[in-house]
Amino acid sequence: MRTIEAGAITDAVEKTFMEITHLLGDDLVAALEKAHREEESPLGKEILSHLLQNVKIGREEKMPVCQDTGTSVVFVEMGQEVQVVGGGLFEAINQGVGQAYTKGYLRASIVRDPILRGSTGDNTPPVVHVEVAPGNQFKITMMAKGSGCENMSRFSMLTPAQGRKGIIDFVVDTVRRGGGRPCPPLIVGVGLGGTFDQAAWIAKKSLFRRVGAHHSEPHIRELEEELLEKVNNLGMGPQAWGGRITALSVHVEKYPTHIASLPVAVNIECHSHRVRTVAL
Ligand code: SF4
Repeated sequence: MRTIEAGAITDAVEKTFMEITHLLGDDLVAALEKAHREEESPLGKEILSHLLQNVKIGREEKMPVCQDTGTSVVFVEMGQEVQVVGGGLFEAINQGVGQAYTKGYLRASIVRDPILRGSTGDNTPPVVHVEVAPGNQFKITMMAKGSGCENMSRFSMLTPAQGRKGIIDFVVDTVRRGGGRPCPPLIVGVGLGGTFDQAAWIAKKSLFRRVGAHHSEPHIRELEEELLEKVNNLGMGPQAWGGRITALSVHVEKYPTHIASLPVAVNIECHSHRVRTVAL
């Protein structure tokens, strides 16, 4: 049995959340640069150059790329031969998030009750998912998820007869309805199948993939390509001020589902895409 100290998890979570709010991934930067080259609208091009400048300032001055430093979403892939010692897993993650947002002067956006509201003061608690896998690996994926884009996410329980066309119509309509509110250009995460909860989870998980990386199965890859083309044909463009690049990429994940069901979840992510995976 491999052991991992709870303190090491706290340290990794603290360090990662402090960094990802100002240090965006190379995959996202490459996607924004490609969008800048390909955008046909002069205004859209100008907006993309501002976004790239914002990314550069974030890197150089260690300033958050957006004032909304998000909900802390944490996904743990834990080998079944791993034991966390010296404290609980959730508490270790919770503490790391609280320390990151306090020490890093990041905006504490979480309220303790959806109706009564009231800030928790340090962005805790995070949303945590744990999957148990064979072996002794321990990987943590962390995302600072903006709310403007999260709010534009949608779910629908389609009928199986609606099929592929129904999926495409729902995804494209979700992007269209969002307009400029989720701060395009977007990354569109789609979860197909499973149950109500599973579809939403795999839609979120698809956003952990490198920007623009496709699903390994050809029919899902084709769906991703068609969705991206249709979303970009909406003509909304960067910040929805007109243009070609409404989305940088569309990621689809799937799961087996019931014979009578076709759940579709769309999790919208903005251009301030702050995600990183760390292995301990
Ligand atoms: S949607 Fe994204 S870019 Fe827009 S305010 Fe929220 S975190 Fe910032």
